[in-house]
Amino acid sequence: MKALVYTDTKQIIYRDEPDPVPAPGDVLMKVEATGICGSDMHAYHGKDPRRVPPLILGHEVAGSLVSGPDAGRRVVINPLITCGQCESCDTGRSNLCDARELIGMRLAGAYAEYVTIPSRNIIHMPDSMSAVHASITEPAATALHALNLAREASNRPLAELNTLIIGGGAVGFLAALFLRGYGCNRLVISETNPLRRESLVAHTGCRVHDPINDPPLENDAYDLVIDAVGGGVTRKPAMAAVRTGGMLVHIGLMDTEGVFDIRKLTLFEVKLLGVYCYTPADVRAAVQAIESGLLGDLNWVETRPLSEGAQAFQDLDEGRTAAAKIVLIP
Ligand SMILES: [Zn+2]
Ligand SMILES: [Zn+2]
Repeated sequence: MKALVYTDTKQIIYRDEPDPVPAPGDVLMKVEATGICGSDMHAYHGKDPRRVPPLILGHEVAGSLVSGPDAGRRVVINPLITCGQCESCDTGRSNLCDARELIGMRLAGAYAEYVTIPSRNIIHMPDSMSAVHASITEPAATALHALNLAREASNRPLAELNTLIIGGGAVGFLAALFLRGYGCNRLVISETNPLRRESLVAHTGCRVHDPINDPPLENDAYDLVIDAVGGGVTRKPAMAAVRTGGMLVHIGLMDTEGVFDIRKLTLFEVKLLGVYCYTPADVRAAVQAIESGLLGDLNWVETRPLSEGAQAFQDLDEGRTAAAKIVLIP
């Protein structure tokens, strides 16, 4: 099969690879669409020790089954493979499974014509849904999981909160669309890429902020701050922006630089929430949210042929595209 292989830092090669062979309990899937994730970009930069080249990246995938009793069926996958037996799995928090694996991390991913996945990780794709829209399920599930945890921890409905999202990549973008869908009108997104800021305004209707050239945002002003970047450069302004009794939701995994203002955390009783991936329920709810139109027409998603994937990585790296998500089509 043809596949896009990450071979070294900033090197992605489209080449022939052996067809994957499903292990017992796995199904073989023909890939129709795979999104480029921020975590794939992180690997591309050589900064993810969990993703060791040579490796086929890609975990945001939709397609159709080739093997198994449901062969021919169109599906979305939950790329997070969990044991189903540990305490986290047992208590509905399988995203924290001790033995979790993600395709495209150690196992082969889906920038390819075919991929294998445990049959329990398959979710049927609604007939009306395109594969490109279905491939948005995984980042949508990540955004949704963050908002679900924020809702649980908040004493007010999310729609009432004055919210700042730092980072207008796919997860920040989708979090904004969910919040708009919930009726939230007090929403600012901070994003460095000018093309992406235009796209955010056009598709979410939110206020955008340029953290480099605009006057800084007001400190101590936001009930909810979502750091969808997770770097030293964003953690500090994220904590500065939270108001008394507010909440800081930390999703991004960019780096571990810098420190929080722990004094503010204490004096302001800031709730700090770490968020990782999603549960199977979040993934199913994300499929429903896309199908129902809650997230809009998703026209901001760009598609490109898998064979031109290396260029897509380069364009994302150099900020040459407005798209918060590029989906590759084999
Ligand atoms: Zn992803
Ligand atoms: Zn487990």
